[in-house]
Amino acid sequence: MPMNTTQIFTLAFSAALLINLIVKIWLNTRQNISVFSHRDAVPVDFAQAVSLEAHQKAADYTLAKSQMAFWELVLDTLLLISWTLLGGLTELNKFIGFFISDFITQEICLVVVFALVNGFFHLPLSLVQTFHLEEKFGFNKMTFGLWVSDLFKGIAVGSLLGLPFLWLILKLMNVGGAYWWAIAWFSLVTYQLFVMWIAPNVIMPLFNKFTPLEDDLLKEKVTELMTRVGLSAKGFYVMDGSKRSAHSNAFFTGMGSNKRVVFFDTLLEQLSLDEMEAVLAHELGHFKLRHIPKLMISSFLVSLVGLAVLGFLSGQTWFYAGLGVMPNLTAPNDGLALILFLEIVPLITFLFSPLTSARSRKFEFQADAFAKLHANPLSLKSALLKLYKDNSSTLTPDPLFVKFYHSHPPAAQRLAKLEA
Ligand SMILES: [Zn+2]
Repeated sequence: MPMNTTQIFTLAFSAALLINLIVKIWLNTRQNISVFSHRDAVPVDFAQAVSLEAHQKAADYTLAKSQMAFWELVLDTLLLISWTLLGGLTELNKFIGFFISDFITQEICLVVVFALVNGFFHLPLSLVQTFHLEEKFGFNKMTFGLWVSDLFKGIAVGSLLGLPFLWLILKLMNVGGAYWWAIAWFSLVTYQLFVMWIAPNVIMPLFNKFTPLEDDLLKEKVTELMTRVGLSAKGFYVMDGSKRSAHSNAFFTGMGSNKRVVFFDTLLEQLSLDEMEAVLAHELGHFKLRHIPKLMISSFLVSLVGLAVLGFLSGQTWFYAGLGVMPNLTAPNDGLALILFLEIVPLITFLFSPLTSARSRKFEFQADAFAKLHANPLSLKSALLKLYKDNSSTLTPDPLFVKFYHSHPPAAQRLAKLEA
């Protein structure tokens, strides 16, 4: 008996899910083997800078994180199958339809309940990650109270920013005609730019305190560096990253004249003046070389294609039925279509992650080269070594794992290029 479109789609979905699982578990296993088999000796190039104890801590930390990633994969897969082929979404949709008659309200409720249930099932993992894994390796600085307040603030900010936008998208899907997805794309781009614009002044201060940088020597050095590369910032700030984690970072945010340089307080403690300058030069390199707009343009193009595909899929019965979901026969199914689409997109984008990761690693090399020109390469080298050590990043990752997952090149490659 020949298969119909619905059955073919079910088969394609199952195959994609299985391929994703196999590739992810295979990569994880390779990474574990690579890290474990190098655990007993510091790589020759790092023998002077990294102690065996620090190297073994990094190995154990990497292996522990890999184990967490495995459980997260199991959870995500179980949730995905339960929502789709096992009928979870159909039941939830029926249940909501029973209480609410207005289409848009019904669909918004569906998306919100779906997101909350998914979030609820991820809570135990998040707790274990913060209060067991990060704690065990001495990185966690968060209290349980702060964790709870972050959770509720996150939900509040997400609702405030997300719900009006969700309403707009569902409305467009419903009444926007055959090319709703083009208007939706335009709204999405505008909305993302808006969020980026308000993030440094409105969203980030809700979660962290930003105090003006008081270290005059550092301020002077940083201002000189910025003048040298032809940039100006509205201010230099220190962020209290230490209230959550001992991991550290520096970044450059904002758009137009609203630019600011932000240092984690943890970074200020770890690095010398020259090292800070070198790290900032690297960040400014990203900015000067327009890496952020370049990444944004690609992501906008991908979302345009994505929305066009969603526009097509949402009108096909086999799209719902093939994923085990009964669409409404007398009401719009845009909420369902949106959820299903967002659930299957990662199965496809994961297979392209070597391309996006490669691009990101290329940008890191370019930013390093920029820093090499405008600051002392030896300072960048020693700063990177400190950061690798203090963040317990593995020095011996599996090369194929790097290709899929790492946005930054392995330490050995970065340092070699800085020395060249
Ligand atoms: Zn970078």
